[in-house]
Amino acid sequence: MTADAVPAAALPRYPDVVAAAARLAGVAHRTPVLRSRLLDARTGAEVHFKCENFQRMGAFKFRGAYHALSRFDADQRAAGVVAYSSGNHAQAVALAARLLGIEATLVMPEDAPESKLAATRGYGGKVVLYDRYAGDPAPIAADLAARRGLVFVPPFDHPDIIAGAGTAALELFEETGPLDALFVPLGGGGLLSGTGLVAREAAPGCALFGVEPEAGDDGRQSLARGEIVTIDPPRTLADGAQTLALGKLTFPLVREAVTDILAVPDDALAPCLRDVATYLKIVVEPTAVLGLAALYAEAERWRGKRVGVLVTGGNVDLGRYAGLLAGTRTS
Ligand SMILES: *Cc1c(COP(=O)(O)O)cnc(C)c1O
Repeated sequence: MTADAVPAAALPRYPDVVAAAARLAGVAHRTPVLRSRLLDARTGAEVHFKCENFQRMGAFKFRGAYHALSRFDADQRAAGVVAYSSGNHAQAVALAARLLGIEATLVMPEDAPESKLAATRGYGGKVVLYDRYAGDPAPIAADLAARRGLVFVPPFDHPDIIAGAGTAALELFEETGPLDALFVPLGGGGLLSGTGLVAREAAPGCALFGVEPEAGDDGRQSLARGEIVTIDPPRTLADGAQTLALGKLTFPLVREAVTDILAVPDDALAPCLRDVATYLKIVVEPTAVLGLAALYAEAERWRGKRVGVLVTGGNVDLGRYAGLLAGTRTS
């Protein structure tokens, strides 16, 4: 334990995920769990894909954002919310804020996919741009919060965000029963933390893997070293996992729940996008196939087993997507 480790009481637990599911009922979509015989044949496993590309605003992030904002008190609702994100958290906060009648300001990198910037503005969010490779969005958001009295909602390191994210796994296990293994894309670890709370309860024997892009494997390094490792901004196709470090809440939760953290090279992602399009008939963003890419790499180990893959989102510019499918784009 490091000196500034959070007290255990500050960490969300399984009942918090169940409570989040109650708040999200009737607001978030219950997303489908898709199967494909041909993908089963390709991997040798029985694979269940939890498809959060069909979630509202196109990614699981809606779950955490709506859950967090729905717990604002009257003063916080009146003050408004500020968040930063490379895309999906911003969209999620913008949509959740609109549904709850709260004003939202979003700090986003100027090279974020155009579709994510447009969608955030489309939900009525006010967008403030910054240069991802030159600056850190956290102090920009903190400054806006201080000067305008806005409530800051972080993208992953918040108990309500973690509990909300965990509701996807709750639905998955309700549908599939216990699984032998579950593969989860890993950025800042909100999703993996929430998923871990559920997996340890619903399927204690289930192996749980966080999956990062190789270029941004801070989670794997952190697990190996036993402390949070911060990396330089990684260049990767998986823009939803371009985070620099796990959080004070997510690091201990990830550490207690995961079997391992795996990393996959960017060039494994386009073939997975193609397979998901071909066999599941769905459009997803590069970050969403990190889990499938890791399963392919580990296929021998999971032959004949029941495996879950969290498909996290579908927000991708169609031009970029077409180029990735065709193999004419690698960034
Ligand atoms: C945010 C995001 C992730 C990573 O989630 P964390 O909670 O940051 O680990 C994965 N996939 C998509 C599509 C995302 O938007």
